[in-house]
Amino acid sequence: MFEKILIANRGEIALRILRACRELGIRTVAVHSEADTEAKYVKLADESVCIGPASSALSYLNVPAIISAAEVTDAEAIHPGYGFLSENADFADRVERSGFVFIGPRSETIKLMGDKVSAKDAMKAAGVPCVPGSEGSLPDDPKEIVRAARAVGYPVIIKASGGGGGRGMRVVHTEAALLNAVTTTQAEAQAAFGNPVVYMEKYLENPRHVEIQVLADQHGNAVYLGERDCSMQRRHQKVIEEAPAPGIDRKLIDKIGERCADACRRIGYRGAGTFEFLYENDEFYFIEMNTRVQVEHPVTELISGIDIVQAQIRIAAGEKLWFKQRQVVLRGHAIECRINAEDPFKFTPSPGRITNWHVPGGPGIRVDSHVYSGYTVPPYYDSMIGKLIAYGDTREQAIRRMRIALSEMLVEGIKTNAPLHQELMLDARFNEGGTSIHYLEQKLAERNEVKKS
Ligand code: ADP
Repeated sequence: MFEKILIANRGEIALRILRACRELGIRTVAVHSEADTEAKYVKLADESVCIGPASSALSYLNVPAIISAAEVTDAEAIHPGYGFLSENADFADRVERSGFVFIGPRSETIKLMGDKVSAKDAMKAAGVPCVPGSEGSLPDDPKEIVRAARAVGYPVIIKASGGGGGRGMRVVHTEAALLNAVTTTQAEAQAAFGNPVVYMEKYLENPRHVEIQVLADQHGNAVYLGERDCSMQRRHQKVIEEAPAPGIDRKLIDKIGERCADACRRIGYRGAGTFEFLYENDEFYFIEMNTRVQVEHPVTELISGIDIVQAQIRIAAGEKLWFKQRQVVLRGHAIECRINAEDPFKFTPSPGRITNWHVPGGPGIRVDSHVYSGYTVPPYYDSMIGKLIAYGDTREQAIRRMRIALSEMLVEGIKTNAPLHQELMLDARFNEGGTSIHYLEQKLAERNEVKKS
């Protein structure tokens, strides 16, 4: 096992990784920007290194500064968390070339999955069902593009191969709008991701977002830990996640899960990963793979009893998977609410000093957050300040516990989206379960209408 790990991230996930290391008896190095010097988790780490000013481009994305922090502290491995450099193949490569272990897949795998066209090709070859669409990237010839769209059938969605974060996508409903949309998306993709390659998919009108969590070791073993439903989204950003996904046939999940595990074995995947699918009319369609720990990993931890962050570390250290698929037993139901420092109606960020912070507790409640009374939420980073997770024997119990937890939660000094979560926990359609990826946006639009009238 490693003796010392450097955590190349900030906020709640830095604290989460720190806790996993401590439980495994591993010493920790926290790297931080000048804006995060006073954060408590930085002080909890055995050592800390300031890697640059507040701007993430100069700190959390500063590869040479992070590598030299690992060098001066004699860390053996680097955990990238999520966001920042976690899916940057060049970073993974630099880490390994500098003699450290990257806690994640090999850099070639990150590259393969980071390019959505090659990821889809690899998944198709491994027997994972994909959204119908163009064969690979779109050709240059306009006639061929028109032909491809006719074959797929309208509406179609044009997507950037190098895209991410919900950007670089355009829905096209008619042939008249097609070629213009392709050119615009190409230009945007070049500007945003430095890669103009786009591809085409059938636009699914009312799908759910359901993803499969996998773990694979370096010895050819892979398992899946069930699924998560992350359909509650605003602007393609997840707001609430839960496991299991309500109302989906277990046999179908097992079939897809087995395909995902098999794909991992085929491509020599290592570490934790997530296969993201759209789910519509009892069918799963692969859209992309995330080669890192996800924000929503706790819901899977609560129903499986498996610590995913510790698993990442043990796998990176070369351990063989210590359990078999049939030993993965999923029990109960877990729901996660992302707590953001933002206005619950306008969604404008609300950074600043938290004068009073009181977190809920009690049976089945988990809070993953680095925040405390007196903490100042810096304006430079993502607005998520923590995650509230509720577990119950049933979905109903998890929702009841979440309502109580939200009512106990107290945050003063800044605004948070907790009131929105309270509203959603009482929402009739959410309580039924199985809402589509458009449900939250529709509900928010209606809420605005009511306010106006
Ligand atoms: P990103 O990497 O930017 O998150 P994804 O490919 O994961 O891109 O897609 C993000 C979101 O865009 C999905 O969760 C879904 O809401 C929507 N989306 C993507 N592809 C399709 C499609 N073929 N049909 C309908 N919606 C889609």
